[in-house]
Amino acid sequence: MDFKCDVVVVGGGVTGVAAGLAAARNGSKVILLEPRPFVGGNATTGLCLHNFVDKFGKQVVFGLAQEIVDELIKMGGAVGHIPYKGFTSAVTPVDGNYFRIKTTQMLADAGVQVIYGATVVGASAKDAKVTELTFAAKGGLHRLEAKNIVEASGDGDVAAMLGVPFRFGDGPKKRMQPISMILHFHNVDTRVIAKEMGEVDPAMAVRPEGGEPIPVYFNGSFAKWDDIVISEGIFPNKGRNVFFNTVWPDQINVNTSAVLDVDGTDPVALSKATADLTAQCYKIGNFMKKHIPGFAGAYMVPAAIPGVRESRNIHGRYQLTDQDVLEGLKFEDTVGMVCFPVDIHAPDSSQAIFHQIGGDGSFDIPFRSMLPKELDNMVVAGRCVSATHVAHGATRNMAPCLVMGEAAGTAAAMASNSGESVAHLDVKKLQKQLIKQGVFLGDSYK
Ligand SMILES: Cc1cc2nc3c(=O)[nH]c(=O)nc-3n(C[C@H](O)[C@H](O)[C@H](O)COP(=O)(O)OP(=O)(O)OC[C@H]3O[C@@H](n4cnc5c(N)ncnc54)[C@H](O)[C@@H]3O)c2cc1C
Repeated sequence: MDFKCDVVVVGGGVTGVAAGLAAARNGSKVILLEPRPFVGGNATTGLCLHNFVDKFGKQVVFGLAQEIVDELIKMGGAVGHIPYKGFTSAVTPVDGNYFRIKTTQMLADAGVQVIYGATVVGASAKDAKVTELTFAAKGGLHRLEAKNIVEASGDGDVAAMLGVPFRFGDGPKKRMQPISMILHFHNVDTRVIAKEMGEVDPAMAVRPEGGEPIPVYFNGSFAKWDDIVISEGIFPNKGRNVFFNTVWPDQINVNTSAVLDVDGTDPVALSKATADLTAQCYKIGNFMKKHIPGFAGAYMVPAAIPGVRESRNIHGRYQLTDQDVLEGLKFEDTVGMVCFPVDIHAPDSSQAIFHQIGGDGSFDIPFRSMLPKELDNMVVAGRCVSATHVAHGATRNMAPCLVMGEAAGTAAAMASNSGESVAHLDVKKLQKQLIKQGVFLGDSYK
């Protein structure tokens, strides 16, 4: 089949969801292509949308990201931004299935045509403009023409197909953060688990319908169980990190599994990692049920998808640097702010290392970091944005992805409306529109 639209969004993770909504609300005919039978990407595995609030306790992320949280609270699938005294000052846990249900409905309400089971497998460009995408879906190969393209595939697949240069992992050795699979438990006692495994006091929240506060986020380690962990071969390392999220009193999502040295863009390596992680989740789950108080009567379900933390980051017209992040720099062409610390799961151990954002606790996403040099009608957003390995440790998180998605979709629609390519859009006009949509561009923005 042949398709035509104003804006095509490649990928329906958190970034693509925000981009699709923003583009459609700005008057574009939007098609969103997503290989999986659902939108939300990694958010559907049940995590926190890190992070709306900076290290000083000031909220800097609003706009569509906040609208989604507000909608989730109404449904009972989120509890708001909850103070935490760990590596971050606040957390925003959400239920993954509710995220998927709500954003599916929001996309439909906005008039976005979502095509599931659709993987972009080819692209052509002429005179710095993408002229056509080919996607594989039910029925074979299909052609699509769009005025502007939002590249939100996480891996930067389409940008790479069209020859946009990119960086892989941490430099010449190309070591990437590990791939993990979230493990869900039902019928657990989250208070007991938080007491047994939490390193600091858990973030406590009252559910939207009321009741006693429940633990919704905490991080810790398996150090107390190191002897068994090593003797039973549960993990290769001692003091293994673990992160917990929930919005329910009797369910918990556990982030601790990992496979190292996997190239998430290599289908064979990713498939092997998926199988290994599924088995790992089962082994870890049984160990937790047997040895850790609070899990005894639990029922476990590994997430349906493996989570890729890092693969390609394109080289854009600007590359966010280590210094930008560590000094909390601001840019004239800002499209939003990022405040979650740099969060790198070490490529050789999976242990998490955090570096706080410097300056006033947040840095800007410059529009130029979302624009490939080689193509004028493509805007790149989300995990694959132009950033160093360290800067990507901050930008890869979901609040930044939502911020970038909203900016990308808005920009692509505004450019399509005026018959231009997104790279030629006047950034001041874009900023004005983003402010109208409730995006906070910072105190330094004029
Ligand atoms: C285990 C794990 C735990 C994490 N924990 C947190 C956390 O607690 N908080 C937080 O904020 N962040 C967390 N992150 C990071 C965060 O979840 C991701 O970086 C973020 O969701 C990426 O969003 P995205 O939309 O850019 O990419 P993705 O979620 O990767 O979405 C990309 C989408 O594009 C689709 N796609 C891929 N290729 C193509 C193609 N060729 N054609 C069409 N579509 C394509 C994919 O199917 C996918 O749906 C975690 C990451 C991992 C892996």
